[in-house]
Amino acid sequence: MTEQFTPDENAVLRPYVTNTERPVFALRNLPEEVVAVLFAYYSRSRDSLRRNLLKLIQDNDLDLERRLAWADVGQDDLSLAKRKAKDFHEKWVVGYGHASVAEHAVAHLAVEDVSIVASKVLEDTRLASFTEKSTRYVVFDRDKFYREPRIIASPLAALYEDTCRFLLDTYARLMEPVTAAIRTETPRGERQTDRAHDAACRAKACDVLRYLLPASTLTNIGMTINGRLLEHLITKLLSHPLTECHRIGTALKAEAEQVIPTLIKYAAANAYLRETGEAMESLARERLAGMAPVEARAVSLVRYPEDAENALVAAILYGYSAHPLTQIDERVRRLSGEEKARIIDEYLRRRGPHDPPLRALEHLTYTFDILVDFGAFRDIQRHRMVTQTPQASTALHGYSSPPEMARYGYADLFGECMDRATSAYGTIARDFPREAQYVLPLAFRKRVLFTWNLREIHHFVQLRSGRQGHVSYREIAQQVWRELERVHPLLATYIRADLNDYSLARS
Ligand SMILES: Cc1cc2nc3c(=O)[nH]c(=O)nc-3n(C[C@H](O)[C@H](O)[C@H](O)COP(=O)(O)OP(=O)(O)OC[C@H]3O[C@@H](n4cnc5c(N)ncnc54)[C@H](O)[C@@H]3O)c2cc1C
Repeated sequence: MTEQFTPDENAVLRPYVTNTERPVFALRNLPEEVVAVLFAYYSRSRDSLRRNLLKLIQDNDLDLERRLAWADVGQDDLSLAKRKAKDFHEKWVVGYGHASVAEHAVAHLAVEDVSIVASKVLEDTRLASFTEKSTRYVVFDRDKFYREPRIIASPLAALYEDTCRFLLDTYARLMEPVTAAIRTETPRGERQTDRAHDAACRAKACDVLRYLLPASTLTNIGMTINGRLLEHLITKLLSHPLTECHRIGTALKAEAEQVIPTLIKYAAANAYLRETGEAMESLARERLAGMAPVEARAVSLVRYPEDAENALVAAILYGYSAHPLTQIDERVRRLSGEEKARIIDEYLRRRGPHDPPLRALEHLTYTFDILVDFGAFRDIQRHRMVTQTPQASTALHGYSSPPEMARYGYADLFGECMDRATSAYGTIARDFPREAQYVLPLAFRKRVLFTWNLREIHHFVQLRSGRQGHVSYREIAQQVWRELERVHPLLATYIRADLNDYSLARS
C-alpha cells in the first residue's frame, strides 16, 4: 500500500512531487544532484523516495507557509539536501565508482558561437541529445566564423581570415540569385501556396550553398546530457588537441558546476586520451608510409555477416524458445529457404510506417567505408546507434560540386572558392596540420568508417533516403541500401529506401 503522510509532511513534499498518494509520481523543483541521490537511495534504503526526501530536508528551517505558495519556493530551502547530496555523490559516485547514479542528474547546456569543427567533437557523444542550427532553414552570418587563435597569432592570419571571409561572402552573395534561379527552374506545385514554394526554394538554395561554408562557420547547439556523460565529454574536450575544444571544455565545466557541481568536479585533461592519439598518429604514419590512398567507391560495404539469413532467423527464434543458440543454429541450417523467409517475414511484416523493426536485427552488423562531403558527414554523424570512426579532415579527397552551381552559371566562382580553400589549407597545414581544417568548406570530402547493426540501417536508410533529406546524404543512404541489397537481397527488401530523385526536398 502507498505510504501515508501527515498534513505537515504533505505540505513539505507537495512542491517537489506531483502527488503524495499514489505510487507513480514525478519529481519537480529539485536540484539535479538531489534527484540523483533520491533515486540512488532506492538501491540503499528500505524507505520510499518521498520519505527519503523528507529526511533530506528535515533538518532545514522549514517555512511551511512559504512552501505552500508555489511561486515562492526557493532553492535555498534545499541547501541541506544539496549538501547531503554532495556528500553522497562524493562517497558513492566518486569514491566507490557507483557511476550510473550520476545519470539521474541532467544538465541542459547551450553552446553558442561554436565552429562546425568543434560542433562535431561535441556531438560525438552518443548518449546525449542535441539540436543544432540548420544549414537548410537558417542563412548563416557572413561575419561569424571562428578565428583560430594559434593561426591568428601567426603570419598566416591574413590568409586564414581572407579565405574564410571569401567563402562566407560568396555564400551570402549568392543566396538571392540562387534562390531566384531555383524559383524559375522549379515552378510552384498545383497545391502549393506561394509562401510554401518560396520557403522550399530558399531551403534548396541553402542546401546548394552550404557546400561553400567553411568549417570555421559558427553555429549554436542545445545539449541535454546526464552528469556521468558530461564528465566524460568535458574530459574529452580538455584532452583534445584543438584549442577551441579545450576552451569549450573549460567553459562547460564552469557553467555545469553551477547545476551539477559534484558530478563533474573531477573532469580534467586525460593523458591517456591525449597521448594515445598522438602515439597512434605517429605509428599509423610510420606503418602506412609509402602507400598512397587508392581510389575507392564512395560507399563500400567492407564487412558483413556471411551467414546473415541463418543468423537472423536463429536470433529471432531464440527469443521465443528455451534452447541454447547452438542448438537453434543447427535446426535453422536444416530449414528450407522458404521456411526461413517466412520466419523473417512474420517478424517484420506487421510494422506500421513509424514502427522500428524488433531487436533481433541488432545481432547482425555491417561495416561501411564511406567517402562523404563534410556537409553530409555533419548530418550523418548525428546518428548515435552506430560506431563511427572519422578520419581527420583533409583536402586530399577533393570536394563535391552541387550541379546547380554549374547550371546557374557559377561553376567558375565555385571552383575559385574551392581552389582558394585548397591552397590556403595546404599553406596553413604546413605549420598547423590540425588547425588548417577550419578553412575547408563543407564541400570537401572525408572518410568515415560506420559499423551499423541491421536494425539501425533500417532507421538510417528510411530517414536519410527520404525526400525531405539533403541530396548528398540521400545518395549515401541509397548506396548503403544498394550495397546491402547486393549481398543480402532478402533482408534488403524489408528496408524502406526511397530511391527517387526530387527537384525540391519539400513539396
Ligand atoms: C530532414 C531532417 C532535418 C533535420 N534537421 C535538424 C536540425 O535542424 N537540427 C538538428 O539538430 N538536427 C536535425 N536533424 C537531425 C535529427 O534531429 C537527428 O539528430 C538525426 O536524424 C539522428 O536521428 P535519430 O535521433 O532518430 O537517430 P539515432 O541517433 O540513430 O537513434 C536511433 C533511434 O534510437 C532512439 N534514440 C537514440 N537516442 C535516443 C535518446 N537519447 N533518447 C530517446 N531515443 C533515442 C530513437 O528512436 C532514434 O530514432 C534533421 C534530420 C532530418 C532527417
